[in-house]
Amino acid sequence: MNTPITNAPHTPYAQYALRKRIMVTGGAGFLGSHLCDRLVADGHDVLCVDNFFTGAKDNIAHLIGNPHFELMRHDVTFPLYVEVDEIYNLACPASPIHYQRDPVQTTKTSVHGAINVLGLAKRIKAKVFQASTSEVYGDPAVHPQTEDYWGHVNPIGRRSCYDEGKRCAETLFFDYRRQNNLRIKVARIFNTYGPRMHLNDGRVVSNFIVQALKGESITIYGDGAQTRSFCFVDDLVEAFVRLMDSPDDFTGPVNLGNPTEFTIKQLAEKVIAMTGSTSRLTYEPLPSDDPTQRRPDITLAQQQLNWEPRIALEQGLEKTIPYFAALLHAQGERIGD
Ligand code: NAD
Ligand code: UDP
Repeated sequence: MNTPITNAPHTPYAQYALRKRIMVTGGAGFLGSHLCDRLVADGHDVLCVDNFFTGAKDNIAHLIGNPHFELMRHDVTFPLYVEVDEIYNLACPASPIHYQRDPVQTTKTSVHGAINVLGLAKRIKAKVFQASTSEVYGDPAVHPQTEDYWGHVNPIGRRSCYDEGKRCAETLFFDYRRQNNLRIKVARIFNTYGPRMHLNDGRVVSNFIVQALKGESITIYGDGAQTRSFCFVDDLVEAFVRLMDSPDDFTGPVNLGNPTEFTIKQLAEKVIAMTGSTSRLTYEPLPSDDPTQRRPDITLAQQQLNWEPRIALEQGLEKTIPYFAALLHAQGERIGD
């Protein structure tokens, strides 16, 4: 049989030994697509698995045609059999408005999704990473949050499908480790933002930027005194790779996020100032179970991964605002009116 002609860049033989086959579930989403970029750039073979519930082909369109990138439409609540060395399990809608749209499916995605990727990892002896969340701490009584805090989570509220689904996924990861000696890595991700968030993502950074650029009212839920800490996506992806590459006896859970804390009102004011917008603040009811404060203690990540974020909120917004401005422009929106 003839060898197929490809436009693959010449790869030195030495590099083949380092090349890994890596599956990224949720790879067409905001974080997943940046992770796929990074892994392909590092010389790996990447399989992106996504059902496009909140993700988009546009996020990974530039990778299609690259011989080291493959896209598979698949719902992780169903089993999957592939041969890979590592799995990053990111599949799950992350924005409250999207994960509350079909809460039963959200729980299934976290729980059945975890069972399916863990079962696969067990069969093929792959290392497996879980994108967990600061939401496992719920409305935290301990501030800032450390990994040994067990959380304060409502099991029957509107956010529970996400929070409890992610908590159960962590349980499954640690039970597979104890029962089957699986190599696991659990990251508790705090609010992260950046280019490729969906225009209608619904999370606060994208909402405020889009509203400011369109000159619409900035919708503050509650009085805006609740706090969050915002991490730029490039910093987070660096931490993902460091965690996956860390020694097998370091499983996490480890907090990954930016420890600088802002009130939501401060974020709104910063976005207005940076976009030069004429938007005004409006106040809407606070959704139920909305955490009043959130800030990661990242001591563990600093010690174990030698990692901390480098990109301050203002620098990250400088990279994110033009992305949304271009999206709105492409849709024919008049910006800055
Ligand atoms: P996102 O919504 O942009 O990406 C999620 C991706 O998962 C999308 O591409 C979606 O289509 C896909 N997906 C959803 N359900 C699926 C299913 N059943 N089968 C296959 N694919 C499915 O969100 P994101 O911000 O990129 O978040 C990625 C992961 O990181 C999520 O697991 C989320 O819980 C976690 N996380 C993100 C943040 C953050 O601030 N961005 C914070 C904490 C945790
Ligand atoms: N928020 C807001 N206006 C918006 C969107 C969100 O005031 O248009 C608030 C929300 O109530 C929460 C914070 O911003 O207190 C962060 O919300 P987000 O949905 O980004 O993520 P969360 O951390 O709550 O999961």
